[in-house]
Amino acid sequence: MKPQVLLIGGTDSSCGAGITADFEVISELGGDCLSCVTSVTAQNNHSFLKSHAIPASMIEEQLNSFQEQKIDAVKIGMLPTSESVEVVVEFIQKFSLQNIVIDPVFRSSSEGVLSSESAIEAVQKKLLRLCSLVTPNLSEAIHLTGLNYCHFDDFPKFANQFFLMGSNAVLIKGGHLDDQNCKDFFATLDGNSVTFEHKRVRGGTAIRGTGCRLASAIVYHLARSVEMESAIELGVNFLQEYIQRKLVQVN
Ligand code: PLP
Repeated sequence: MKPQVLLIGGTDSSCGAGITADFEVISELGGDCLSCVTSVTAQNNHSFLKSHAIPASMIEEQLNSFQEQKIDAVKIGMLPTSESVEVVVEFIQKFSLQNIVIDPVFRSSSEGVLSSESAIEAVQKKLLRLCSLVTPNLSEAIHLTGLNYCHFDDFPKFANQFFLMGSNAVLIKGGHLDDQNCKDFFATLDGNSVTFEHKRVRGGTAIRGTGCRLASAIVYHLARSVEMESAIELGVNFLQEYIQRKLVQVN
């Protein structure tokens, strides 16, 4: 039986990021998906035009429709409002869901606002502790922790702050740092830490939806019972290949 992943997040009309990018990754890797759309956004590679938050009652109905389903893992992306966070929290608790990865996206690359401040606060207070892994990039780590660091050597301080907020494990993505190599820092509450380092692909940061795709690839491997560190390694390798593939298509 294929692993089944529940995707919770927003649509991106250009399909560069968001829940359609997640679907693409899970399908390519060989998994099945369920989807719960939290917001509809109109955007392209250059600009963010508009977003429309799906009412919490409709998010709840979508989640209710999965009651009979086997859910091996959950990927959470855009949560536009605090109410949307609340219904997701209730659903996770009610069904004691496991293997939950949250990619805490608040802004698109084109600076579109994806989550309200109250939604971000609800994620910090109620959702992080229920997740197996949170995957912030540098600016999301700064926003969520309130700490203002910009060097890879400081990433453990972000991780400790995430643990104080209730996180169980964190992958802080260093792709936007000014280093020659890309370095992602993984740490768990019980004291393990690993750095995933790989060669920077020139032009790679211009590709949209890389955060969504990395989290989706990790979730897919968790859904098929791969343990966390190996799932992340597989996810990081998947993303490197994806970026290289995409650059060949563009150039
Ligand atoms: N739009 C939606 C709906 C998303 O879910 C995300 C990321 O998860 C983004 C935009 C951000 O993607 P990017 O930073 O590649 O624009």
